[in-house]
Amino acid sequence: MTAPDTIAAIATAPGRSAIGIIRISGPQVAAIAAGVVGRPLTARRAVLAEFRDCDGAAIDRGLALFFPGPGSYTGEDIVELHGHGGSVVLRMLLERCVALGARLAQPGEFTRRAFLNGKLDLAQAESVIDLIDATTTQAARSAARSLGGVFSNEIQSLMSSLVELRALVEATLDFPEEEVDVVHGADVESRLKRVVQHLNAVLEAARQGSLLRDGVQVVLAGAPNVGKSSLLNCLAGQDVAIVTDIPGTTRDTIREAIDVGGVPMHIMDTAGLRDPQDRVEQLGVGRSWKAIEQADATLLVVDATRSETAADVEILKRLPPAQRRIRVMNKIDLIPRAPALERQADETRVWLSAKTGEGVNLLRDALLEGAGWQETSENLFLARARHVEALRRARLHLTNAGWELGRSEIFAEELRLAHEALGAIVGEYTPDDLLGEIFSRFCIGK
Ligand code: GDP
Repeated sequence: MTAPDTIAAIATAPGRSAIGIIRISGPQVAAIAAGVVGRPLTARRAVLAEFRDCDGAAIDRGLALFFPGPGSYTGEDIVELHGHGGSVVLRMLLERCVALGARLAQPGEFTRRAFLNGKLDLAQAESVIDLIDATTTQAARSAARSLGGVFSNEIQSLMSSLVELRALVEATLDFPEEEVDVVHGADVESRLKRVVQHLNAVLEAARQGSLLRDGVQVVLAGAPNVGKSSLLNCLAGQDVAIVTDIPGTTRDTIREAIDVGGVPMHIMDTAGLRDPQDRVEQLGVGRSWKAIEQADATLLVVDATRSETAADVEILKRLPPAQRRIRVMNKIDLIPRAPALERQADETRVWLSAKTGEGVNLLRDALLEGAGWQETSENLFLARARHVEALRRARLHLTNAGWELGRSEIFAEELRLAHEALGAIVGEYTPDDLLGEIFSRFCIGK
């Protein structure tokens, strides 16, 4: 392995702010810091200093902090320069660090180094970005728990149970004449059962955790003035709707993330899908339809005092038949009497009033239930689709192992494959391109 170089980046968000931070990590950190600050730094002591250019002119005045490796975030020597948060001053400071020998960091490179130096495992590294990207309080709390190792510990514990089980079985392979299998047969079976039970519990929690991270994609349809905006505000409750710019979607699909009982719901508005004006708009509409077809549920809002419009019927016709449908009969405060909830074969109907709030809880429950969310989801950890898939793969191999109790070699091999699937979650067996993909989604400076 070649010795790592020294990387530098602006670690704070671009724009104006009170403080801006440059982060530098690698073997040349001490020399670079001495060049900028003009004197050696003491470990973990904030020093107020002038940050100087190559000709001695002051670029800024701020705090310099030195975190020696291996006890730092990346495991390497790190220096942070806390200056004023202006884009020009930070760029000048960054250029100064580069002139002194640092290289500009790639997105996620600090965390990648932390992973490679064993400061974090892969699931923890992923939770760093998930914490930054969290759109609900519950998602942020769960990401923090994953970062703290709650999820990784579960995976490690499953892996060590598998190692014990394999040791037991491999003993029978090594010493077949001792008939260890007869002695341990029942023991192996009950141990396998316990591991599968534990794995199922972790899988369920991970599935819930991935809902918190990825949220539920909901299509919002309905004619103008039926009360869609009022309903969104009502659903979101106290929490201000966050307009998100999700990568991969176009501006044509309007998405809003609202917090429904802790689960982020990404609302895609279908307004503007009718009568595209020109070709560019048509392209946008095409992309919107794609996103809409892949959504988890459709919410059709209808004014309960009128019937659905021809445009509603058109939109409903184009939606995938298997998609969950919830029809909201809004404005029940204007009609004498209404049922609350009706479950029909192809849709659930919720009668409510976005104005008075009556029935909105029923809709909230219907949305959460449809997403597979369980109220008992306390103390969750945040997880990703990648983790859920790996856990499912592990479960499949354990199920296969269960069929092969009598054939020790195949049994041991299935356990090994299950172990490998789990290992991929924490980064024990992770191909480089997957690492590249994971870290490229980070921000620069993290
Ligand atoms: P949108 O065009 O579908 O987004 O509809 P808005 O949310 O802007 O609502 C249209 C109008 O209907 C507004 O004047 C709202 O105050 C009114 N409205 C919305 N929901 C209700 C409701 O449940 N009851 C009554 N009476 N009026 C409502």
